Amino acid sequence: MKQEKAVVVFSGGQDSTTCLFWAMENFSEVEAVTFDYGQRHALEVECAKDIAEELGVKHHILDMSLIGQLAPNALTDTGIEVADGEDGGLPSTFVPGRNLLFFSFAGILARQIGAKHIVTGVSETDFSGYPDCRDAFVKSLNVTLNLAMDGQFVIHTPLMWLDKSQVWELSDQLGKLDYVRTKTLTCYNGIQADGCGECPACRLRRKGLETYVGKKGGTVLPDGGSAEEVALP
Ligand SMILES: [Zn+2]
Repeated sequence: MKQEKAVVVFSGGQDSTTCLFWAMENFSEVEAVTFDYGQRHALEVECAKDIAEELGVKHHILDMSLIGQLAPNALTDTGIEVADGEDGGLPSTFVPGRNLLFFSFAGILARQIGAKHIVTGVSETDFSGYPDCRDAFVKSLNVTLNLAMDGQFVIHTPLMWLDKSQVWELSDQLGKLDYVRTKTLTCYNGIQADGCGECPACRLRRKGLETYVGKKGGTVLPDGGSAEEVALP
């Protein structure tokens, strides 16, 4: 794989940034694609832009604002509060078929830039009910993309079977835990690094970090201290 080119579906969050580092480790050439779909905080796209620039990765930003027309939801409509799904239902951030659209566009872009590999940070472990995060869907779309464009694409999902603590572990193995912790944006309230600490995304991210750091015998400071303050042995 080393000699080949990959495009990473990149949001500037913990998962996709970890995937970006994973791809940089595994492919000779890496580009990133971010979908701008009127996120609650344009900061998310800005964050992605900053990271790509800092890492010297060519960055494509595609306008996907039509998503907002198709599915008003908590990520794009500030009138809807972000909440967990009730009674096993989907969370209010759910945009039906979002990854179907995103990965299809990523495939078309991959074709245009001559990349055989497409990398995404979807995970079935913490998938919170999103059916298009599932492994079966990704494999099915991989076949569809190849049929659609007569291609030999390979979609990689390095996080598919990892929980959040294992995602932190992977970033640590790549030597990038501090970078991921301080530079990425996962928070629904648009706060970088450790975030607001209250929203579902922050709680999941933090729980994973505490589990991973705890496993290594360290502790995470409760006030959302900086990466340097994470006590790792
Ligand atoms: Zn938050």
